[in-house]
Amino acid sequence: MIQPKYYFYPNPHDEYAWTKCPKCDAKTKLRKFCLMIHYEDKPLRFHRMLSLRMDCKLCTECELIIKKKTEIESYLKMAVESWGMKFNPKNYLVFGTMEMQDWKQNQLTPIDPSKALEKIAPFKDVLDFKIQPAGWYFTGDKG
Ligand SMILES: [Zn+2]
Repeated sequence: MIQPKYYFYPNPHDEYAWTKCPKCDAKTKLRKFCLMIHYEDKPLRFHRMLSLRMDCKLCTECELIIKKKTEIESYLKMAVESWGMKFNPKNYLVFGTMEMQDWKQNQLTPIDPSKALEKIAPFKDVLDFKIQPAGWYFTGDKG
């Protein structure tokens, strides 16, 4: 994998759109990202890497990508069910991004997974923010 890039916040709050960055309070921008996801079903000894091209919120100051979990999971569920398996939200991990041009290339001529890995920038960290009535506070790394 290439140099780590971006922080990621999988937003569990459907009603909260984060038009402002939870870290620095700057206005977030809408930006398309190719999110890389690893899905694993241990009892079935199955794992697969997939990419989702999605509109995300981005704070350019903090390099923080924010995406609603439910939106990721609804796409993932469709994919997993199309493989003939039952989707379990505990089985996936969003771990990085791929440059859009590499992603497009990958769609035209699929490259083998080990080569694809070289194109992926893992996240610097996955963060979590809890919302309190008075605002939010930083809870540290997600584990
Ligand atoms: Zn920020």
